[in-house]
Amino acid sequence: MKPTGNAAAPACHACGSPDVALVGRKPGEFLRREFEFYRCHSCTLLFVEPFSGFEIYNEAYYRGQGPDPFVDYEAEYNDWRTTDRGLEFDDFGQIVTAFFAEFPPARAIEWLDFGCGAGGFLKYLREQGNISRQAVNLSGHDVGTYAERLQKSAGFRILDLAALEREPAGRYDVISLIEVIEHLPEPAPVIALVSRLLKPGGLLLLTTGNLAGPVARRQGIHYRYCVPEIHVSLFNPESLTLLYRRHGLEPRRVRYRGTVKFKVVKSLRHRPVLLALARLALSFPPAVWLVDWLYGVSAMPCAVKRAV
Ligand SMILES: [Zn+2]
Repeated sequence: MKPTGNAAAPACHACGSPDVALVGRKPGEFLRREFEFYRCHSCTLLFVEPFSGFEIYNEAYYRGQGPDPFVDYEAEYNDWRTTDRGLEFDDFGQIVTAFFAEFPPARAIEWLDFGCGAGGFLKYLREQGNISRQAVNLSGHDVGTYAERLQKSAGFRILDLAALEREPAGRYDVISLIEVIEHLPEPAPVIALVSRLLKPGGLLLLTTGNLAGPVARRQGIHYRYCVPEIHVSLFNPESLTLLYRRHGLEPRRVRYRGTVKFKVVKSLRHRPVLLALARLALSFPPAVWLVDWLYGVSAMPCAVKRAV
């Protein structure tokens, strides 16, 4: 007898539920093979099978010559000011400053940038200096050549996963997870780890694409963000909220501005005329609000660690 229903379907990558359905298949943009997209009926996560492996994150990827042509980590490593990342960094800085204006820190702020990549954000934070009149002690986590360079030549405290797992609970006031979770085939253990490492009342600053925004809903798995070689766990506000709550985190809404602008300008990196027009349009706040609504950027919550 042939198997029926979901007999061969994988369990949900975020909540483990076997109640998943195949949504569709499409070829990779970089690897010429077909990928399957599944939707979890329990937590609404959209996830990709099979996982291509972390080997895809090679030197070409980090130069923007791999599956994500919108990143250029080498330029960001050398000087983030030569890229448009500053739009996003300023936004994150303002969000965290506003958070600590509400909850003033009593001592130096411990900040972990999980998935720090080429370290642009760590360098930005180092240059900013204090937040709410407190010094900021920076740590980063990533693997690969940039992590080694950040540690050896830039003097950052960079921890691998094993070292992070040895860190004491409640060590950090802020953990940033910027466009990381969609790359993880197993997002739940990472959210469990960052929740353990956050002190009660600490802030998780997390960004990822919203698969329930108007554009994403209309385009389904053909949405540009669905690059199956690299974006394998695709969240929406509901699935992200459920994941947070299962790991002792309460969702916290923030309003993004520079982050919204950055998403537009990075996607037009190779189209100079459109880029100039977009920069002009985005100097008007209603244009930013419109893009934010279309892509559901601010609809994706950050989180605060629950007090025990
Ligand atoms: Zn699920």
